[in-house]
This record gives sequence, C-alpha cells and structure tokens, in this order.
Amino acid sequence: MTLDKTPPFSPLVERIAGEGSRAWEIHTRARQLQAEGADIILLSVGDPDFATPPAILARAIESLGQGDTHYTAIAGIPRLRQAVARNHERLTGQRVAPEQVVITAGAQNALYAVAQCVLSPGSEVIVPEPTYVTYEAVVGTTGARMVTVPLTPENGFQPVPATIAAAVTPQTRAILLNTPHNPTGAVIPRAILEEIAAICRAHDLWLITDEVYASLTFAAEHVSPASLPDMTQRSVVISSLSKSHAMTGWRVGWVVAPRPLAAHLEKLLLCMLYGTPGFVQEAAVVALAADLAELDEMRATYRRRRDLVCGRLNVATQGVATQDATQLLSCHRPAGGMFVVIDVRATGLSGRDFAWGLLEQEGVSLLPAEAFGPSARGWLRLSLAASEAVLEEACRRIVRYARSLGVAAEVG
Ligand code: PMP
Repeated sequence: MTLDKTPPFSPLVERIAGEGSRAWEIHTRARQLQAEGADIILLSVGDPDFATPPAILARAIESLGQGDTHYTAIAGIPRLRQAVARNHERLTGQRVAPEQVVITAGAQNALYAVAQCVLSPGSEVIVPEPTYVTYEAVVGTTGARMVTVPLTPENGFQPVPATIAAAVTPQTRAILLNTPHNPTGAVIPRAILEEIAAICRAHDLWLITDEVYASLTFAAEHVSPASLPDMTQRSVVISSLSKSHAMTGWRVGWVVAPRPLAAHLEKLLLCMLYGTPGFVQEAAVVALAADLAELDEMRATYRRRRDLVCGRLNVATQGVATQDATQLLSCHRPAGGMFVVIDVRATGLSGRDFAWGLLEQEGVSLLPAEAFGPSARGWLRLSLAASEAVLEEACRRIVRYARSLGVAAEVG
C-alpha cells in the first residue's frame, strides 16, 4: 500500500465538471489539427479577430512605463468606476454612482462574484436555455441550482415570461438573462423585459443581466432591465470590454449593482482577486472615454459578416424531402452579438455529429449549439470573428458537407 495518494476533493469539483466544460472539445481538437498543419477554419470561439484599438494599447504601455505595476483599489480605480458609470448611463439610460460599479477580471469573474453574493445552497436561479456555457458551473459553485426555461427557434429564441413565471418557486432567488444572446444573437425587446421585471418585483428576485454584447447590436435596440421603472434596487448588470473593444485578453469587466450588493462584491474581491492591474484599468478608461472610430468599424464589419453568412447558409433541399423540410440549412438572423446559429436539423444529423463530421471532412470547426442547451438541438454556432473571405470559404465547405450527407440541395 502506498501512502503517496491524493487526499479527497471538495464536492465542488463535481459541480464544475458538467457539460459546459466539455463544450470546447471540438475546438480543442480543431486547434490540435491546425497545429499539426491541417487546413482548418476555426469558427468555434468568440474571440474578436480585430486588434485592440491602438489608443488603448498606447495608454497601457505609457502607464506601465510610469511604474503602474502595484496594487490598486480593490473595487477599481475611481477614474474607471466613473467611466463605467458614464458608459452605463449612455447605453442604458440609468444614472448610477461610481460606488455602484465594481471592476472585475472580465465578465466571467463578474458572473462568479455576483453568483456568490446572491445564491446559496438549495436556492434556484432561472435561466433561459440555450445558455452561455459557463453559467451552470458558476451557479453550481454556490450550491444553487440552475432552472432552465426553453428559448425556441419558433419563438425567435425569445424568453416567454409566462414560462419564467411558472418556473418560480419559494427557492428562486434570481433570473439570469443574456442580451444580446450567446449563442443565438437574440436581443430581448423592452416589452418582454418589462414582463420579466414584473415577475422579479412580484417574487422579490434579483434580475441579473449579462450584457457583454450590448454595444454589438445591429438593428434592434439594446435595453437593459436596469433602466426599467422600479428596478434599480434589484438589477445587476454585468459587462466587459472583451467583445466591444476586442480586449478578451486584458480581462477587464464590471458589475453595476445597487450599493449594498456593490459593497458585498468589494469584500468578495478582496479575498478572491485583490484588484485588477492598474495599467489595464488606465487603458480601460481610454477605451470607455474616447470616441474610438474603430468601434463603429467593428460593428459594421460584424454586420457585413452576419449578412454574408446568413445569405450563404440559406440552402434549400432539392428533390428528396428530408423530414418534410424545404430548407437543408438555414440561419437564425442575429440582431446582435458575434455569432450566427445554423439549423442543420433537416440533414438528419444531430448538431454534435454534424460538427464533428464537418471538422473531419471539411476542416471547419463550429460548436454544436446543443452544448448550450437542449432547445438548440440540431443547431450549430458559427463565430463571426473571421474575415469575409474566410467566412465565404467556410460557408462553401459547410454547404458541401451538408450536401454530401445524401440530400440534394441548391444554394438559395
Ligand atoms: N458572457 C457571455 C455571454 C460571453 O459570451 C462571454 C465570453 N464569451 C462572457 C460572458 C465572458 O466574457 P469575458 O471575456 O468578459 O470574461
């Protein structure tokens, strides 16, 4: 018998090892194939392909040169909290004090911190699915349970307030929404948010919104529930610079919360993070304060890419009817965000089998959207973080693969 063995782990390790952590398997495999020299188009991750705008970069370098390499204020430097508060007001119409802003290491860290402060073992949070893949594990770390309600393609992937209301139990503490939505690109309209806000007031629930794609809307208006009447004391807005400013690697995000929650979050950050780097925060001030031309350019580019993909992947079946469908491939046209979801149900394959087959046969890496929840079964998520030329080639290969499955098709 050996004494050299690993002692037991906390039950937490089970709760963070769910489906979400497996969602990236195909992406990992695609990267491996690429490293081995295969011709792979990687559209399985939402990392903008733009460079961080130079003015932001220059400020970080300047700040580093000035010796900004020490501890900073735990909840964020006052200038950045102020800049986030102003940005929040511009985007949502809700006026907030800098004390209501807490700076985190990206929206992911913000989600985790908020979950710790509002959820507890045995409590429930209602989340429309498909959900962003990390939510379940984040909720799991608190011992709370994620109760999902479906977002269906027939309903434009919009949450149905009556279904949410029916899911409320005495254990419910919060509703967590993501608008614009990853993976579907749906932007929740004001009328639906008002109904969901009323449910929160009626049952004394938090309304947490993940708004990381708030500035990447195309036609639809982004509405933050925080801006709705009588919601200031129960709304929590989470966002970051990752997507809007092509700054995923900088790890800068925030929470805008009522003062009591902001104070609790600051105490949590004291024991989990101890502040984010000063030079990153200085750069973030520039990102939020400056009127950067690059931002409009990025939004316009995503929009062009969306139009291209939705046009190319609208493929009719020809002759042979599959499951009575007339479309072999079609897209849900996203109103915001940086993804397009593609309906492959008419091919007869699951999203997972289609994605793996597509990778093996055509070298295109997409995520099966069912990894985000069962309501997206038979759908794939394509990231728009690639040039139009690359997306065009990816679409060609996707269509070729779909056709190779034995169903005659024509590009519509
Ligand atoms: N929420 C959603 C919906 C996301 O798509 C992402 C990133 N893919 C995050 C949160 C995490 O973003 P960040 O880089 O700011 O941590």
